[in-house]
Amino acid sequence: MYDFAIIGGGPTGYAAAMYAGRLNLKTIIFTGAPGGLIITTDFVDNYPGFKHISGYDLFSNVQEHARSYEITEISAEATSVRSNDRGAFIIQTKKDSHETKTVLFATGASHRKITVPGAAEFENKGIHYCALCDGFAYKGKIVAIVGGADSAAKESLELAQNAEIVYILCRGSALRGEPVNVTRVHQNKKIKLVTNINPVKIIGKERVEGVELDRPYEGSAILKVQGIFVAIGHIPQSELSLQLGVLRNEKKEIVINRFTETNVHGVYAAGDVSDTPFKQMIIGCAEGVMAAYRAYEHLAKAI
Ligand SMILES: Cc1cc2nc3c(=O)[nH]c(=O)nc-3n(C[C@H](O)[C@H](O)[C@H](O)COP(=O)(O)OP(=O)(O)OC[C@H]3O[C@@H](n4cnc5c(N)ncnc54)[C@H](O)[C@@H]3O)c2cc1C
Repeated sequence: MYDFAIIGGGPTGYAAAMYAGRLNLKTIIFTGAPGGLIITTDFVDNYPGFKHISGYDLFSNVQEHARSYEITEISAEATSVRSNDRGAFIIQTKKDSHETKTVLFATGASHRKITVPGAAEFENKGIHYCALCDGFAYKGKIVAIVGGADSAAKESLELAQNAEIVYILCRGSALRGEPVNVTRVHQNKKIKLVTNINPVKIIGKERVEGVELDRPYEGSAILKVQGIFVAIGHIPQSELSLQLGVLRNEKKEIVINRFTETNVHGVYAAGDVSDTPFKQMIIGCAEGVMAAYRAYEHLAKAI
């Protein structure tokens, strides 16, 4: 039986695994597709100890650090989790199942999809959710970002490295992001911020050719673009936790206390799936470490 099972192979999960390894907890991590959201960003300038590093490299450092301890990695998704009559938990994948004394949900979040007409039809045919993954295809082209927070700011800077013009279509009256990123956006001559505007329809034949707006911009309600990148937030991947009766809030985030404990004894949550308001890698890593330590204390008391 494992002491500590982590569901989620993003930075939060691997930070928890690193610390659990140090605490000699018999640890298993179910990674799904490892890396999480941080590997979709080109640069991270706000992680203490690294002035400037790519999201991929930063994640790989955390993963490598965790791997320097004895942990078991399962490169599959956890498909179910239930408690058993031994007071433990059974985590199942499509292939096998594993028993554990404690569980950490570090399942993160997925991109919130845009739902205007045409958006689903043109997904990957001009509608994208990751500038780092798909932005290179728009070298010398005109693109738009839908969104108004820090992710939209960062995605626009990434796209501006290749695209000729990047419109940010922001529904609010200003771009809300880290001030340093907002300043970079305003200083970038390729980026045009358009505020108080919403897309209402995606237009095209085979691929995206434009977007219809809810008010005219520069004399037209149709903005001609070849690509549209969506950065309108994320949805917590918390469904699995319901199988254990874990409490979620109205945003479907898992409710935790300051020790990352959920309402279910021996079950923790950390990172973007939790109800902590500031979704950043440093917060997820810290919460992951707290969960590992809390599980360690819980198990020590149970002995
Ligand atoms: C464009 C962009 C830029 C960003 N820039 C920054 C930045 O500069 N600085 C910063 O600190 N943060 C940044 N962030 C936020 C940061 O990426 C997240 O806060 C961080 O990735 C959260 O990590 P996590 O491990 O909690 O969740 P995630 O990164 O979402 O990872 C969750 C992991 O769990 C796995 N998973 C899900 N369900 C299961 C399952 N059932 N079984 C097994 N595995 C599962 C997923 O495959 C994934 O690997 C940015 C985010 C975006 C989108």
